[in-house]
Amino acid sequence: MPSRRPSRRRPRDGSHPPLDLDRALGQMRAESGPDGEWSVRTVRGSEKQYLCPGCNQQIPAGTGHVVVWRNDSWFSDEHALGERRHWHSGCWRARGRRR
Ligand SMILES: [Zn+2]
Repeated sequence: MPSRRPSRRRPRDGSHPPLDLDRALGQMRAESGPDGEWSVRTVRGSEKQYLCPGCNQQIPAGTGHVVVWRNDSWFSDEHALGERRHWHSGCWRARGRRR
């Protein structure tokens, strides 16, 4: 029987808090706009419905949309995540064109 060994060993790095944001958030990208830096995450749909701030319409449960939050470094990631907003993908994209 072959001996088992840990497949990967993470070096201990004291500079990061033990937050697992990357895993919790899945795929996301950074976007910069006239109103700041944003993190944008595409989701397939959630169990809740949300109000899109772009058009003030509901995003029904189970509908793909984007979740955005400020990427400015003024606040901690945790705070920014608490302020995140759910948008229709199209509304988010069209956001800069509306006045
Ligand atoms: Zn919308």
